[in-house]
Amino acid sequence: MLHGTAVSEGIGLGRVMLLEESRLVYREERANGAPAERERFRQAAEAYRQRTRAHMERLRHSAGEEDAQILEAHLEMSGDPSLLEQVGELIDQGKSAEAALQEVCGGYIQVFSASGDELTRRRAEDVQDLCRAIQRELLGVEEADVRQAPKGTVLVAKELSAAVMAGIDSDNIAGIVTEGGGMTSHSSILARALGVPAVCGVEGAASRLASQAFVIVDGTRGDVIFTPKPEEIEAYQRRQDAFLEKRRRVRYFLHKKTLAKSGEEFKLLCNISMPSGASRALEAGGEGVGLFRTEYLFMNRPHPPCEEEQYRAYAQTLRDLKGRPLTIRTLDVGGDKEAACLELAREENPFLGLRGIRWCLKHRDVFLVQLRALLRAGVLGDLRVMLPMVSTLEELREARALLDQARAQLKAEGLPCVGGLPVGIMIETPAAVLSAAALAREADFFSIGTNDLVGYVMACDRGSPQVSGLYSPMQPAVLHALREVVRLGRERGIPVGLCGEAAADLRLTPLLISFGLTGFSVSAASVLAVRAAVARWTKAEADQVARAALALGTEAEVRAYLGQAAGEA
Ligand code: PEP
Ligand code: MG
Repeated sequence: MLHGTAVSEGIGLGRVMLLEESRLVYREERANGAPAERERFRQAAEAYRQRTRAHMERLRHSAGEEDAQILEAHLEMSGDPSLLEQVGELIDQGKSAEAALQEVCGGYIQVFSASGDELTRRRAEDVQDLCRAIQRELLGVEEADVRQAPKGTVLVAKELSAAVMAGIDSDNIAGIVTEGGGMTSHSSILARALGVPAVCGVEGAASRLASQAFVIVDGTRGDVIFTPKPEEIEAYQRRQDAFLEKRRRVRYFLHKKTLAKSGEEFKLLCNISMPSGASRALEAGGEGVGLFRTEYLFMNRPHPPCEEEQYRAYAQTLRDLKGRPLTIRTLDVGGDKEAACLELAREENPFLGLRGIRWCLKHRDVFLVQLRALLRAGVLGDLRVMLPMVSTLEELREARALLDQARAQLKAEGLPCVGGLPVGIMIETPAAVLSAAALAREADFFSIGTNDLVGYVMACDRGSPQVSGLYSPMQPAVLHALREVVRLGRERGIPVGLCGEAAADLRLTPLLISFGLTGFSVSAASVLAVRAAVARWTKAEADQVARAALALGTEAEVRAYLGQAAGEA
């Protein structure tokens, strides 16, 4: 058995199709004159762009608009003037187009892969994909065509590019195994969107698994079983049936309200990072958007989006939501989120530095542009504004004052804008938890960001394996913090939601119901499972579980207890 990271749930059984990266052989020096070689490069880049647009079209139909956007980043990069200029210069110096591109991309890859930030490291994969794809165009080498794969195929590769993934027919591909990648690689995101079981980070997979061998991919546990015994095949087939049955069962909840067994109603919203996520949120059964991470509009581009571009993005999202609520979080950069187009100073402790609202209040010119765009879009639908990383009342007041300033500017310019816009805050810092009573007097709603809150409450870096045991929403300290925030918010009569990953952890559902949470905001893929989990509990049962869980002293005890309670419910 081989083991890796489980990145897309489910069990797949089938025969291996090995996608070996053909080595691209090319000469270092150009055989043509510089102008002819530059033209050869230009044509190859253009052919690449055409092919990628076709891939995007296919992905739009198979996985959805937001996933197709992954290729949009490749397209943008392939037209980046500084990249093209650098390649041209190396060609002028005598390099072949392939070698020039390799050298320029190699530089970017080195810089990006050395970054401590996950998203920036992911960009190294994008540059690598782009480089090989244009080199293939230059050399006339065809990419592996997975569209021809027969039913019951398990794809095995060192890495899978987004372009190869775009060709996948999820009816035929039973599973995916890759040596590289992680939970947030593009191939993993796409595997989840397509509903194909996948395991990545499997060392030696491409050399250990023979073409046509029968294998089992366990995308729930992260196992790859080769040469399985008949009884193993039977056992996995049973697990596959159970998994598919569970998926069918939750489809029942698609157009239902989110109700506990005893009738209490909750809001079940989606987290999105691009306007295109809005329609997918509704298709998945979401009741609106509880978190639009607008920092993604600022990433992978040389200049920040102007007011008009932001206005169009927010207006589009509201239109696609057809009257459903949209909570837009203002720019949340700093910490682990970089945006090359903004000035983010290097800091010794970026997670304790100029992050989220702190950065925006120091860069009012950038913040005001966003606030103006939000106020203008506010006339088009049910829009709410949410401030990230708030730790003091002053931050909320200053942000509100800037919102008033932006409104006054728009009025003076005769531009239509909304009068009142609900302003809520994310509860992500211990300071916000401890001053929740005061904050609740001036905020229109709370949304708990457990991804950060867990790290700050436990004083542990979620990225460090040395302390990863501490990073858990089931730590007693975190549970007490959650209960307090919900209590204080509800006492003041404001809605209190949760939009961190913990909202989709079904073991926590009874606790959140019992605490009095008013809404969950999760990724589109988790909507139905959360609605089904909420429906399994009465308020009284949830209260009982919460009482028992809060009486426990350690995370391990809480985890074991909640796991058991969720299994029995
Ligand atoms: C959070 O911290 O829980 C959250 C939702 O914000 P982000 O993951 O974008 O930091
Ligand atoms: Mg956060």
